[in-house]
Amino acid sequence: MKNKLIIVLLLLAIGVDAHMPQFNNNKPCTVVKANIQFGIENNVCKAIEDWILNDQLSPIQGQSVQLLSFKMGYQTKHFLFNHLYLGLPIYGSTIKVNITNDGHLLQAFSNLVKMNRPQETSWLQANCWFSKANELQPAFVYKDINENGLWEEIVKDASGNILANCVLDLLNKQDTLVQSKLFAPDPLSTAQKSYGADNGLWTNKNGNDYNEINAQRVPLALPLRYENDTFYAENKHVLIVDLETPTIAPFKSTQNSFDFTRAQAPFREYMALSHIANLQAYLRSIQIDSFANFQILVDAHAYQGRDQSRFSLTGADKPALFFGTGGVPDAEDADVIIHEYTHGINHSITPNTTSGSERMALEEANCDFMACQYSKSYTEYNWRQVFNWDGHNEYWDGRNAASNKKYPKDVSSNFYSTSELWSSMMNDLSLDLGREIATKILFYSMYNYAAGMGLQDAADLLVQTDSLLYNKAHFWPIKQRLIERGFAVSIAIPEQQVLKDAIRLVNTQEFANGVGNISILQNESAPIKLSVYSINGAFIKETEWLTQPELNPAEFAAGIYLIKVQSKTSAYTEKVMKLN
Ligand SMILES: [Zn+2]
Repeated sequence: MKNKLIIVLLLLAIGVDAHMPQFNNNKPCTVVKANIQFGIENNVCKAIEDWILNDQLSPIQGQSVQLLSFKMGYQTKHFLFNHLYLGLPIYGSTIKVNITNDGHLLQAFSNLVKMNRPQETSWLQANCWFSKANELQPAFVYKDINENGLWEEIVKDASGNILANCVLDLLNKQDTLVQSKLFAPDPLSTAQKSYGADNGLWTNKNGNDYNEINAQRVPLALPLRYENDTFYAENKHVLIVDLETPTIAPFKSTQNSFDFTRAQAPFREYMALSHIANLQAYLRSIQIDSFANFQILVDAHAYQGRDQSRFSLTGADKPALFFGTGGVPDAEDADVIIHEYTHGINHSITPNTTSGSERMALEEANCDFMACQYSKSYTEYNWRQVFNWDGHNEYWDGRNAASNKKYPKDVSSNFYSTSELWSSMMNDLSLDLGREIATKILFYSMYNYAAGMGLQDAADLLVQTDSLLYNKAHFWPIKQRLIERGFAVSIAIPEQQVLKDAIRLVNTQEFANGVGNISILQNESAPIKLSVYSINGAFIKETEWLTQPELNPAEFAAGIYLIKVQSKTSAYTEKVMKLN
């Protein structure tokens, strides 16, 4: 399945470069639902393109579609296409096609222009078409800053008349990137010191500044909301609030200066604003951008001054993080920020499932794992230690995600202690798979989490998720790491999935177009039978038991068929299409 990943990356690259006219029309889109199977392999995108051209557009020559973006969801794929005529985009004419991983159309949201008749342009400047009542006219689209300082997209005709314009910025949520100096991930990791080193130099010192610790601040991008000449302690992902004592009003300033030290309150607010935005940027960079898509409330000086932090919902049911200021102030350590924020992400993936001792251990472990991986992206020094600056000191012990703990002997009634077993295993696994794949498998497996589940259940889910996401590409390292920790590993994949992996229908696109036979690809040369049914389930025909059965499109009328793929021990059914 590595090929598939490469294709995904190529598609993304195309999407980023493509010119995408904004949709500037209040007309609602059309929802298209149909029982269609686009195939499962590399030709899915082409199959969707063909469907759009043949089924969703009026039959006028010269039209084409271009992929603008592609995203993977959980078991789903999402394609956004732009509509072109004679190679020029039609302004606002797009279609979003959502399918399951096995190629079934979930729905399409269509803003496509249905052309009435062919058009011509001799206007060399035209870079798009503009549609009025499905009549196209050549137009020129460009971006410019308007009198209010906002980016606008403007569409003009050949005489310079404005056909459409729309503001591109959503100003009230626009973040301005400023430069700050913060700990990343914490002063001890970058100084490569342990707490109390150099004869007690590297200690909290009551939260006061000292030269050595101030020197551990590094330049870090800080996205902030900027509005009416004022910078606010807010960005797309975080809103700083004051919910609990100590009472400190969130920072705001008209000054363009963000250089604070740990003894100053804005420093801790910036730590949360910057590190949460950076984690989100990382998640988007690995194409998992649908987690915690909300602005989380953060009180950077909270918990009545205790040495504790937490994720919880406010009275108004808003997700919020509270960082205590006792001991080493918690928001001075990115491990604490990322740990607590991961609770928020988990809540968005699998809400209301955190009860039961082993489930709680998993919850804490997954947050620690994310904190370790985030830390390691800045420095590898002691990266498997959790809360390097906040803990491992006179205030509390912190946690160790480099433990040798094993299942089930180290499962204890203290779920924090149990959690080290799982976080350590995940960190080991990240050494084999890399941060990106380990994170994806873990997060997508969490969709399945339930209250009261155990560590062995979570182990099974890692294997299953790798199977669904990567076709078991990482089965051996996952199995190895789980067995080292005492877990049982069975091939926890439904029999049907095993068969689907071992025997696949191929050439369905050629079959749809009537130019090639459907055949099968299998790992062994076992006898296989293909049985064909109508979409209503009526039997049509079947092959003999053969190692290479085939279906000839000439024997089928246009339509959708169900094909039962059968081995001597199992069977599954797939839909295929014959176009004409
Ligand atoms: Zn926690």
